[in-house]
Amino acid sequence: KLVLGIETSCDDTGAAVVDDAGNILGEALHCQKEVHLKTGGIIPLVAQQLHRENIEQIVKEALSISGVSVNELAAIAATVKPGLALSLGVGLEYSLKLVNKYKKPFIPIHHMEAHALTIRLTNQVEFPFLVLLLSGGHCILAVAQGVSDFLLLGQSIDIAPGDMLDKVARRLSLSKHPECHSMAGGKAIEHLAQTGNRQQYKFRVPMQHYRNCHFSFSGLQNLVNKVIIQKEKEEGLQKGELLPCVKDIAAAAQHAVAVHIVKRTYRAMLFCIKHSILSPKNATLVVSGGVASNQYIRKALQILADVNGFAFLCPPPRLCTDNGVMIAWNGIERLRAGLGVLHCTDGIRYEANAPLGIDISKRVEEDSIKVPRLKMKI
Ligand code: ATP
Ligand code: FE
Repeated sequence: KLVLGIETSCDDTGAAVVDDAGNILGEALHCQKEVHLKTGGIIPLVAQQLHRENIEQIVKEALSISGVSVNELAAIAATVKPGLALSLGVGLEYSLKLVNKYKKPFIPIHHMEAHALTIRLTNQVEFPFLVLLLSGGHCILAVAQGVSDFLLLGQSIDIAPGDMLDKVARRLSLSKHPECHSMAGGKAIEHLAQTGNRQQYKFRVPMQHYRNCHFSFSGLQNLVNKVIIQKEKEEGLQKGELLPCVKDIAAAAQHAVAVHIVKRTYRAMLFCIKHSILSPKNATLVVSGGVASNQYIRKALQILADVNGFAFLCPPPRLCTDNGVMIAWNGIERLRAGLGVLHCTDGIRYEANAPLGIDISKRVEEDSIKVPRLKMKI
């Protein structure tokens, strides 16, 4: 069985054909990042226009690389939630055009569910597993109990870690740094941090007294901003000019992000083991999203997993960020589970906001588990 997956939830137009054995027969991706980098953020109307210009070509490319015609598909899957309304609309409209023309079943996909299940395409992972999604738009800790069966343990109460790193990178004008030419903000921070000294600055780790699994990054971003402003003053530099200490600031900011993420994930692990949601014998932590390609954060999470006897898995970087493959694979998973395969698409709509699974974050908070101190050398 073959499924075509179409992704347009944010700023990437992606399409892929995947079979039920998990083979990627063909994929195509158009990234708008370069355009949005110039405007300092995504302008929804621009994203929509670019999706419109590229979607047909991307889908055709994925099909032709696969050597598959639409007639041979078992179903067409497309992201319908959550995301930018204008972007989601383009993918949904195009998918429904194909669905109606070729009389194919349609599988509406939750973008974050797709991120979470990608690991089952690349590795043999059985449900349940703990999954941490770290990207530009999301920060989610959940238990994947089955296809379309998630327990939400915690999420960011303000911005996502990738968003914070992008903002810090922009405030530091890292795009002007000779070592960071056209790198994404988070990637530039990671690169500079490698040769920086994180001990030069100490940023308070957020939410240390909150006994839940939620995240917060905007306070941390403010702390970093304050230091940048102070340093600019000291150096007699204008906003926008490169500070000589960018590497140290990048290293300290990245460290605080990593420690915050590790602490929240530690609580989630203890909660899941305590309540037998996961078995200590074969518990797994899966990490995905654009920020999961950060080696420093990854290493910190690997250490945490080792300490708690969890297996640690990440999809390869190109499948961590938005792509059509994960949508097609989610379609295969849903087809196999007989879940959400539609033969009539009347009334189907996209949804900009859509929670992932059942929110049990209150239960986590009420439990108020004591998380031991974790000494780790990253
Ligand atoms: P979402 O998937 O939530 O809709 P998105 O499209 O912004 O949002 P991704 O494409 O998964 O998410 O990830 C992009 C984010 O990952 C950006 O914020 C970018 O700065 C960050 N990022 C990329 N590489 C790295 C890295 N090496 N270290 C840290 N962050 C990184
Ligand atoms: Fe995404």
